[in-house]
Amino acid sequence: MIPNPFEYTAPATLDEALKLASSGDAKLLAGGMSLIPLMKLRLAAPESVIDLGRIPGMNQIADAAGIIKIGAMTTHHAVETSPLIRGKIPLLAETAGQIGDIQVRNMGTLGGSIAHADPAADYPAALVALEAVIHLRSAKSDRTIEAADFFIDAFTTAMQPGEIIVDVQVGAEKPSEGYRYEKVPHPASGFPVVGVAARIHQVAGKITLARIGVTGMASHAFRGRKAEDVLEAGGSIADAVAVLGECIEANSDIYASAEYRKHLTRVHAARAITAAISRAS
Ligand SMILES: Cc1cc2nc3c(=O)[nH]c(=O)nc-3n(C[C@H](O)[C@H](O)[C@H](O)COP(=O)(O)OP(=O)(O)OC[C@H]3O[C@@H](n4cnc5c(N)ncnc54)[C@H](O)[C@@H]3O)c2cc1C
Repeated sequence: MIPNPFEYTAPATLDEALKLASSGDAKLLAGGMSLIPLMKLRLAAPESVIDLGRIPGMNQIADAAGIIKIGAMTTHHAVETSPLIRGKIPLLAETAGQIGDIQVRNMGTLGGSIAHADPAADYPAALVALEAVIHLRSAKSDRTIEAADFFIDAFTTAMQPGEIIVDVQVGAEKPSEGYRYEKVPHPASGFPVVGVAARIHQVAGKITLARIGVTGMASHAFRGRKAEDVLEAGGSIADAVAVLGECIEANSDIYASAEYRKHLTRVHAARAITAAISRAS
């Protein structure tokens, strides 16, 4: 339970962190909720650790003309309780409030969670449904990527070596939108066995926009585009969830078989969509 020796740096600016991240075998440290256990178990043994915790502004939440920018170092607790996020992107606040326990929510960060890309992390379902954009910087580049393209496999993202997540950008939900995050928590860890985020916009009782994000079912979070199409074409919730994740291989472990996970996903997707519709009305 003792990590390999490593060099520790705590840069005071993002530019300094980007420079350090571009050289050698370094790991970024945010809340340490995932990285420190991995290092103690020696599943990760970086030569150096770059602590992002002293960089001013990396935990800011700001409204930039209707786009909410959430700094990568914002804790889950801050996401859950921020008046701006609760008011403008309540789906994200609702999701953050269901992560782990209060200690995890006080230490863990948005950037650390999505960079770690646990197949059962909560945020990815909401970020995919919200069509969030992730802002990445390296010493040589500055780019954005949509959440649906960011999560590419278990513990694997589209980040390139040397890149740091600076913030996550989410458009404010429309007043007539309804939302819901439904999760089946694993009794031991609290991680979702499956989690489904639904976002619905209705006009005169007709669904004009449906967005569904799923986590826990497969190797990485995904958007249920076929199910969204069914709802937007006036189909029933039952018909929509019947096609949710139909071509995607589901995870299987001692807690839940692939077949059971898919079943749970569809049951909880129906609940999330039903609740989102009632909130949209
Ligand atoms: C007991 C327990 C229960 C939990 N339950 C849940 C749960 O129910 N749902 C859930 O979703 N999660 C859960 N978690 C995980 C938790 O959400 C962590 O916050 C998250 O996995 C990692 O965030 P962190 O800030 O601690 O990152 P760290 O552990 O510091 O870093 C994780 C990884 O991200 C990288 N990284 C960190 N910041 C950045 C950045 N800005 N740019 C690029 N890379 C970066 C690091 O280098 C490292 O590889 C749980 C954790 C614990 C310990």
